[in-house]
Amino acid sequence: MSEERPAIRARGDQTWQERAACAVAVEAVRDPDLFFPGPVADDERIRLAREVCSSCAVRKTCLEAALECGDAAGVRGGLTEAERRAVRQKFDLRCDPARVTAALAGRDVHLTRPEKQELIRWAVASNTSNSLLASVLKVSEAHVQKLLRQERRTGADVEGSAGTSSAGQAACQVAAA
Ligand code: SF4
Repeated sequence: MSEERPAIRARGDQTWQERAACAVAVEAVRDPDLFFPGPVADDERIRLAREVCSSCAVRKTCLEAALECGDAAGVRGGLTEAERRAVRQKFDLRCDPARVTAALAGRDVHLTRPEKQELIRWAVASNTSNSLLASVLKVSEAHVQKLLRQERRTGADVEGSAGTSSAGQAACQVAAA
């Protein structure tokens, strides 16, 4: 059983746990600490926990939830705490236009910094209301105005330098309203 791509999860949504393999796996029933290997090398536990994760239908969602909330305990989504630390930076730099669009549509999505930046860029381009932006970003309207001013200045700088925006930024762009 595999999971193509995790559905866009609202902050705090735990319903995916109903499909967690570790909730029913015989290995986890036999050893309640299976997913919490000790501080010293606990290779056999880690191996068994990974095995359960590899067949879990919500593995990607589980990993995403652990990375989002900084869950440092045990094996999550097939990765140990140290392995999650190693992928954390890449995770924090992701920019998925579908997640930005979902946030704009009212979903309480945990946006990364580049996703928030894209949201602000989009808001400038489409003249989005400050109140909507404030509610999506969970900041005051005064703060929104500051962010918009910054984005207008940055946008003008980019245009002035003959379109030097990065390929990553382009890949993240939310479609025009
Ligand atoms: S990926 Fe692993 S830790 Fe996460 S829910 Fe599935 S079995 Fe449990």
